[in-house]
Amino acid sequence: MRTSESITLDQFPVGSLVSNASREIIYCNSYFAQKYGYTVNELIGMDFFSLLSRASQIMYDSYLMPLLLREGCCEEIRLTMITSASEPIPAVVSARLDNNDERRIFWSVGHAARSEQLFGELTEARKLLQQKVSLLHTLSNTDQLTGLPNRTALTRHLSQKIEEMKSGELAFALAFLDLDGFKEVNDRYGHDTGDKVLRLVAKRMTSNLRSDDLIARFGGDEFVILLHGRFNAGMAEESLNRLIRQIEEPLKIDSLTLQVSASVGVTLYPQAESITPDQLLRQADQAMYQSKLAGRNQLSLFNVDNEKHQKERHAELLAIKAAMAANEFELYYQPKVNMSSGELLGVEALIRWNHPVEGLKAPVTFLPIITETQVGLDLGQWVISSALEQLQTWLSEGLDVHVSVNISGYHLQHPEFLSNLTRALATFPDVPKHRFEIEVLETSAIEDVEKVSLVLSSCRMMGIRVSLDDFGTGYSTLAHLRDLSVDMLKIDRSFIKDMLTSPGDLAILRGVIGFARAFQCDVVAEGVETYQHAQSLISLGCDWGQGYYIARPIPASILAEWVTDWINTGFHKKFSRPPVLPITELKE
Ligand code: C2E
Ligand code: MG
Ligand code: MG
Repeated sequence: MRTSESITLDQFPVGSLVSNASREIIYCNSYFAQKYGYTVNELIGMDFFSLLSRASQIMYDSYLMPLLLREGCCEEIRLTMITSASEPIPAVVSARLDNNDERRIFWSVGHAARSEQLFGELTEARKLLQQKVSLLHTLSNTDQLTGLPNRTALTRHLSQKIEEMKSGELAFALAFLDLDGFKEVNDRYGHDTGDKVLRLVAKRMTSNLRSDDLIARFGGDEFVILLHGRFNAGMAEESLNRLIRQIEEPLKIDSLTLQVSASVGVTLYPQAESITPDQLLRQADQAMYQSKLAGRNQLSLFNVDNEKHQKERHAELLAIKAAMAANEFELYYQPKVNMSSGELLGVEALIRWNHPVEGLKAPVTFLPIITETQVGLDLGQWVISSALEQLQTWLSEGLDVHVSVNISGYHLQHPEFLSNLTRALATFPDVPKHRFEIEVLETSAIEDVEKVSLVLSSCRMMGIRVSLDDFGTGYSTLAHLRDLSVDMLKIDRSFIKDMLTSPGDLAILRGVIGFARAFQCDVVAEGVETYQHAQSLISLGCDWGQGYYIARPIPASILAEWVTDWINTGFHKKFSRPPVLPITELKE
């Protein structure tokens, strides 16, 4: 290996020079001398200036030397060197000042032609890139069809606005607009016409709103408008209602005259709680949906309280789901008896929530939260299975009993209701089907009577009994009775409650009982609370009853005890005094 002493600067492919305080060249390597057409000896003693173009000499005095004196070095300065043949050659020069008395300067001179070219190319490329970036920026922020800012631009603008608000900016309103009937225009006249409609509507909006308001096309026929400085609902409503009226004006497109309208939802910022741009958009969207539901072509204001309510509901729904998993639900059973003979007809399963903190909760406190939800369906299915399991246990213990369960209209109309019921029944093959009964609730909420009628007939064909619950309360109950085939009517307790004091209620009751007979249904009265009620019902021809006078809903574990007590006390024969029962206070 060669040692460093044997290597000289002459061997480096870069020009090396040393000049002194009076710019005299005191050293130069042979590479430099060769490059610029001199010999080393010719160069030694030459003024460094004589190697520079006029412009570079100025550069030397005004820039290079002051820089060297200040910093001690400079790098990659562009100078023009002059060859012995007076030819200018661009060079890239770096220098270091040796700050002793002699003030020697060590120069390294590189050939600049290639790097100059590269530099030029880079500058050009950078310019093109900048143009592309700005074009892309415009494209990615603009909707091509309408020329309005697009969703990306809107979201960014909205985030900025929310940020500005923190420093005390004025409030704003955010509106979500969806055209009504736009799909029909597209379907009927084609997409070209649809596009023209969108362009015209966009133009109308732009000319209708203030110049500092932001209108963006959100997608399809949806637009979002940010109304600056509208800090109350009234101000926002005024602008938006004007806009809605403008949009419904006829649109002239080629030879066609078309009309569209807009459903708009609006929400205000700031709100009591901090909110993200996304949530704000969702609020406006929800309010827009309200406008659609309310008949389109109108404005709805987002109600923060409503959302809070919905959030609470959602939390409650999750709590119910968790309670199911934690096995906190329990079925209580309320006997139904023949008040004349004392015979036990059956028991009705009534759901309770053993809440770890709030205690025993009545169905009214939680069932409304889960109506028309999957949780509601799951709980309904759980009720069916649990009641069947309990029935099987009682039968195996020799207790002669029938069990009914309540089924919501939504559950009943679910496409898998019958198959799930069949599966549940198959799990308990020892239970005779006729001992199981379903009580159909919310008869007025049954939308598809034909379908429900089919489901109920199928249940009856399986051998299951079917009763109509709360009979008399739904306005369409009578029509249902004509269309639905059932075994029993349960007269709602509201008719029983005032039968002793209200001749009107008594007349209705009489009518309902007669009506049930005409349809050859059994009748059971709910809410039998006193001896007098029981006696009056018997005299009206309604022997079957259920109510606190007979028994409160009780846990499954004490039903056998109740039955023994019921028979042993002879109460069922005399019907003179209520049996002693544990009364569990319910939270309603
Ligand atoms: P329903 O099916 O009409 O049940 C009768 C309701 O009346 C029960 O209330 C029962 O405790 C109450 N009741 C019984 N006798 C008397 C009485 O003499 N006086 C008074 N004031 N009330 C009496 P509960 O258990 O609170 O149930 C209320 C409703 O909740 C039920 O009305 C039923 O519609 C629904 N429900 C209960 N359990 C279930 C279930 O498992 N599934 C479904 N889908 N709904 C259920
Ligand atoms: Mg019921
Ligand atoms: Mg009822």
